[in-house]
Amino acid sequence: MHHFATDVLVIGGGGAGAMAAYEASKHGVKVTMVLKGFPERCGITIMAPGAIAGVGSWHEPGDSRDLHFLDTVRGGSFLNEQRLVRILVEEAPDLILELERIGALWQRKADGESYALRIDGGHSYPRCTFLEDRTGREMMRALFGEVKKRNINILSNTMILKLLKDESRVTGAVGLNLETGETVLLRAKTVILTCGGAGNLYLNTSNPTGATGDGYALALDAGAELMDMEFVQFYPLGFLFPNSLRGNLGALLYYVHLFNNKGERFMEKYDPERLELSTRDRVARAIYTEVKEGRGGPHGGVFADMTYHEPGFIAKMQPALYETYQKIGITPEKDRLEVAPTCHFFMGGVRVDENWQSSVPGLFVTGENAAGVHGANRLSQNALAELLVSGARAGKAAAKLAAEIGQAPVDPREAKTATELAGQMLSREDGIRPVTLRNRLRRLMWEKVAVIRSEASLRGALVELEVLKSQLESQALSLKSRHYNQELVEGLENYFLATVAQCVTKAALLRTESRGAHYREDYPAADNKRWLKHLTIRQKADDLTVQEIPVDLAEIKPEGGAL
Ligand SMILES: Cc1cc2nc3c(=O)[nH]c(=O)nc-3n(C[C@H](O)[C@H](O)[C@H](O)COP(=O)(O)OP(=O)(O)OC[C@H]3O[C@@H](n4cnc5c(N)ncnc54)[C@H](O)[C@@H]3O)c2cc1C
Repeated sequence: MHHFATDVLVIGGGGAGAMAAYEASKHGVKVTMVLKGFPERCGITIMAPGAIAGVGSWHEPGDSRDLHFLDTVRGGSFLNEQRLVRILVEEAPDLILELERIGALWQRKADGESYALRIDGGHSYPRCTFLEDRTGREMMRALFGEVKKRNINILSNTMILKLLKDESRVTGAVGLNLETGETVLLRAKTVILTCGGAGNLYLNTSNPTGATGDGYALALDAGAELMDMEFVQFYPLGFLFPNSLRGNLGALLYYVHLFNNKGERFMEKYDPERLELSTRDRVARAIYTEVKEGRGGPHGGVFADMTYHEPGFIAKMQPALYETYQKIGITPEKDRLEVAPTCHFFMGGVRVDENWQSSVPGLFVTGENAAGVHGANRLSQNALAELLVSGARAGKAAAKLAAEIGQAPVDPREAKTATELAGQMLSREDGIRPVTLRNRLRRLMWEKVAVIRSEASLRGALVELEVLKSQLESQALSLKSRHYNQELVEGLENYFLATVAQCVTKAALLRTESRGAHYREDYPAADNKRWLKHLTIRQKADDLTVQEIPVDLAEIKPEGGAL
């Protein structure tokens, strides 16, 4: 077993983890980052093509931080924690500039000086900085430049399986070195959890393979509360073919017009003012409805049209996607691309305070693992802004707290227990293959807990989830090696996914209304009287207990009760 001790332990090396580690390292403490893959090669952030929202000195006439706040809260159907949204809109612009100071390049207008700005669904003005279709990658390039310079200890290919705690606070974590198969015991004064989302819970997803909700399950197991787990965002424009690309982000909403098989630009019916720049939940539901009512394409989607742009525009603005189009035989100047919704983002996550600290002392949670900013539906481009702000806040607060407290002892026997599952899976001769279980889970969630839900579908899903959960204990591997065994990783991730699936489904069943990304066909309207509140989930022994708590409406309330 390998032992490490650090002041601040950052779990995850995406944008939120890199930002938190960078910030924590400014405060004279020892920082260690542990991640499931290779630095700059894993997580969702490197895939983000879009932009970062923030109203800085570059803003357009008429735009303001108050308006960004209003757009975010309206987009989130008033379920956002408003004090966190205020922090987001006030602090994101300086962090966008800070990224530039540490080496990120943002696209400029023709004058070569002022930022080129993108507008996307739900934003009132173009206010989002970007670089071609590799904004997230650029962000990571700049942040990791600092992470490497600052002597932050990086443990790559290490999967955390359990957080450690004493009676008063978090004390570290236990993981598995995926290269060697050895157990890793990490003692820490404070922990920042940044494991990203859980898109792999669904059959079609834009998320990379490692996005399996580990952070949500780890936090829940450590005693933290999850909040708003019923709100899962489906990006409207996922590829449908070829199969190897299915679910991947296929086009950007601000560069397409959407048509059904009758040649109608159908968003005129669903949101005549904003059309494709409506919020993602509305566009996803509109596509779902068009297809369900027989107006879809041969692959079960609708048609994204980019032919109206000047020649060369798409190649210039989204070069990586353009290259993909060419490989699959699509010429966006003349062809339409068939697309459909794909699981994209989790609005829910761990409930946190203004420093992104959870209810477990010393445990901070940032990026997609944290809840509160996005409410019932995330506005486009706000995730990258949120991970900068939450990473910076948590990094600073975790470092300060670590400087004040001592290292707590941890019991190495706990580490053994945490990795026992891996040993059992490796030694079991017969049983269910992790990939089989994973596929069943993903299909179940897609069919019963996705874009459109109902009491019957959710109750059915809960029953099936119980069965799937019991089958976790009979997972067996075809490959018995401890070194780089992806099947073993998949088997371990299935535990996390199954827990997240139960949380999403339980909360979705209890919320008898439709709001943001949560749509119940048996309760199609929002109900502010009954449901302007959060659902939180805690784990008590093997049981998940759900509680209703008030929403922070400190600055604005829904006008006239309507959303
Ligand atoms: C295709 C796509 C495009 C997007 N585009 C945009 C956009 O343009 N603008 C925008 O604002 N938002 C966008 N989003 C959303 C945004 O990119 C993500 O929400 C955000 O990048 C998540 O960052 P993160 O740091 O929280 O997680 P990630 O970047 O996913 O990082 C998670 C890290 O945790 C590690 N990890 C996971 N589990 C474990 C474990 N058990 N042990 C150790 N390490 C672990 C992973 O290896 C990884 O290093 C997009 C999302 C997708 C899927």
